Amino acid sequence: MRFSGFRVIKEALTGYKGWGSLWRTPEPQASYDYVIVGGGGHGLATAYHLAKVFGAKRIAVLEKGWLGSGNIGRNTTIIRSNYLLPGNEPFYEFSMKLWENMEQEFNFNAMVSQRGILNLIHTDAQRDAYRRRGNAMRFAGADSELLDREQVRAMYPWLNFENARFPIKGGLLQRRAGTARHDGVAWGYARGADLLGVDLIQNCEVTGFRIENGRVLGVETTRGYIGAKKVGVAVAGSSGRVMAKAGMRLPIESHVLQAFVSEGLKPFIDGVITFGAGHFYVSQSDKGGLVFGGDIDGYNSYAQRGNLPVIEDVAEGGMALMPAIGRARLLRAWGGIMDMSMDGSPIIDRTGIEGLYLNAGWCYGGFKATPASGYAFAQLLATDAPHPTAAAYRLDRFARGLVIDEKGMGAQPNLH
Ligand SMILES: Cc1cc2nc3c(=O)[nH]c(=O)nc-3n(C[C@H](O)[C@H](O)[C@H](O)COP(=O)(O)OP(=O)(O)OC[C@H]3O[C@@H](n4cnc5c(N)ncnc54)[C@H](O)[C@@H]3O)c2cc1C
Repeated sequence: MRFSGFRVIKEALTGYKGWGSLWRTPEPQASYDYVIVGGGGHGLATAYHLAKVFGAKRIAVLEKGWLGSGNIGRNTTIIRSNYLLPGNEPFYEFSMKLWENMEQEFNFNAMVSQRGILNLIHTDAQRDAYRRRGNAMRFAGADSELLDREQVRAMYPWLNFENARFPIKGGLLQRRAGTARHDGVAWGYARGADLLGVDLIQNCEVTGFRIENGRVLGVETTRGYIGAKKVGVAVAGSSGRVMAKAGMRLPIESHVLQAFVSEGLKPFIDGVITFGAGHFYVSQSDKGGLVFGGDIDGYNSYAQRGNLPVIEDVAEGGMALMPAIGRARLLRAWGGIMDMSMDGSPIIDRTGIEGLYLNAGWCYGGFKATPASGYAFAQLLATDAPHPTAAAYRLDRFARGLVIDEKGMGAQPNLH
């Protein structure tokens, strides 16, 4: 089944009876060449790229719930490549380029919208830092523009310029950044992988690893033992728990991050805006709701719900930036479990166990990385060599002191 404008019209005229399931529901086989643990964005993108780019066969994705039930379906949908450090920026720009071509490639509408992201500047020191970041982005082939106060005012005249506690002095703009429909991304990769013969197995929790003589032989699951030549783990917020089953302790803490949606309002934010004097970011959905978020909850948790003090803190950030938001009613809030690494950057690497590979540490920025993470993890699994843009995401960098401390906050996940 291919999606097209003609198909939509035909289905509308014939009672929508021709739409089939997006993917099969296969029974697990006794063994596979590749088993990917976790049916989130990264696991599905990995399976898709393994089959599509690296021609791999006999691939299964094992998901303990339903596809897209984790962070891929819970995030605030921002995609961007506005990073500073050489270990990060080329990777995220690679991801941005994959976003730009993704829907045509897997023939699914993921609503990728390059509506731009504006990071607001509130101090002279921040302008210096953002100028440096903008230059680093350009070195890696990304786009960036430094705006002055009047250019920002022309874009968003209703921001609080006049009497603000943190006056707006300009902004760093990336026009190619934007948003994408998060669960549409999961469904698109799932459908694309299924069409290439990948078995997507839902309600199948990995409960253990069978390891002999330092080599992984397969995984124990709630649906029985499944053998595998190679196992790739991409379980985001559950990374610590799952890898503990292989006897590994990770440099990762799990924290909750909340997202918020207001009642529907007339369109007034056509891009993504981030507040530079606090932690608050906002965009507006196609249905009119303001989609916003801020800091992680300050304690470790595996619960997919957050606490009230963070709601208050995020609302304060919003009020400081755009007082008009105070009249909007909050409609929904939810939480997802973040795999916070100790330097705020991800891990895509082999482990000390032969045949076992790890994709983790995405903190709260892994949605934008989904295409590149899937591509790079697939390359590592297929060839045992890292993708050039992901070569710094080594698991042993914490022991070797080669951290990628993008925010300069040190090993404090609550500050990244
Ligand atoms: C509120 C919120 C806002 C965010 N905003 C953004 C944003 O704007 N931009 C951005 O770039 N990033 C954002 N993120 C981060 C981003 O969503 C994550 O980094 C990314 O989705 C993680 O990768 P994933 O999609 O593979 O994770 P997930 O979707 O969580 O996938 C992991 C999967 O593994 C499964 N699993 C766990 N244990 C097992 C097991 N034992 N066996 C089998 N399966 C298992 C889980 O059920 C889950 O489906 C946000 C996250 C949240 C929660």
